[in-house]
Amino acid sequence: MSQTRAYAAHAADQPLAPFTFERRQPRPDDVAIEILYCGVCHSDLHFARNDWGMTRFPIVPGHEIVGRVTAVGDDVSRFQVGDMVGVGCMVDSCRHCQPCQDGVEQFCLEGFTMTYGSDDRQDGTMTQGGYSDSVVVSEHFVLRMPEGLDPAAAAPILCAGITTYSPLRHYGVKAGHKVGVIGMGGLGHMGVKLAKALGAEVTVFTRSDAKVEEARRHGADHVVVSSDQAQMDAVAETYDFMLDTVPVQHDLNPYLAALKYDGTHILVGLLDPIEPAIEGFNLVFKRRVLAGSLIGGIPETQELLDFCAEHDITCDIETIDIQDINTAYERMEKGDVRYRFVIDMASLKNASAD
Ligand SMILES: [Zn+2]
Ligand SMILES: [Zn+2]
Repeated sequence: MSQTRAYAAHAADQPLAPFTFERRQPRPDDVAIEILYCGVCHSDLHFARNDWGMTRFPIVPGHEIVGRVTAVGDDVSRFQVGDMVGVGCMVDSCRHCQPCQDGVEQFCLEGFTMTYGSDDRQDGTMTQGGYSDSVVVSEHFVLRMPEGLDPAAAAPILCAGITTYSPLRHYGVKAGHKVGVIGMGGLGHMGVKLAKALGAEVTVFTRSDAKVEEARRHGADHVVVSSDQAQMDAVAETYDFMLDTVPVQHDLNPYLAALKYDGTHILVGLLDPIEPAIEGFNLVFKRRVLAGSLIGGIPETQELLDFCAEHDITCDIETIDIQDINTAYERMEKGDVRYRFVIDMASLKNASAD
């Protein structure tokens, strides 16, 4: 066992605070990683606050991990000490069911092992995430970070990036397609960059005039202010795909009406009941499809990292020290982040030792 320094939530109503715990010694197929950077995802905040009623405390959040290999188990063949690697939202799965064999471990029939807050499949201890100085992960769930990608700005590719890339790839988005991206947060701005790099013509839908310029800066060809009925009317039956990154309830009907016949509306952020209700008319009369998508499998995540290196795509980030994490959470709740916080884990060395 090795002592790991971290920041953890100790209760739903308390700020994150320093925490020390033990990571396992590497098993034969494990890679030990010194964490350099960790992105801050909205899921981290929901977990720390127990918004989904499933959190066991203390919990160390963080599933956008980039670091350097410090040790490998005897059976590890793909990584060596010194390699730059990444770990995303999953650290294990059953590895034998059909989804696992298909490389879509996020759909594992037994449920995938989350990077934090899950039970380890072998020893039953709870997994702890990347707001820490090290992590030990089976090599199957470790990604290779390509050279040339800034490691801090690449960290959010491991969650925000794959969440938007996977559906674009699954539905074969390519040149000639018109893609709408709803919402311009951490997910949305990555969706714009990735859809553009795949060759699509991209329109951002935003409720605020203030984000029009930002959307164009990220490469959007067009911006529609969705609160402006005239602008929405003008784009009726225009899009092949709608990538919907909005995590709170919103009316899908105006967006469905903006799809061509056979168009597909893809939810990646909304887990709650759809409210207001969908008019069946909006689907039936144009053979439209309403779909959902969850992160992406390990092979596709590696493909995405290589794609981002090739196309020089990273996330727009604001780097913070771990001591600033509680302020960062408060700012995230207000939507005050452009577009992702990433923790420089060197700051953990300055945390009070306790
Ligand atoms: Zn995430
Ligand atoms: Zn499985």
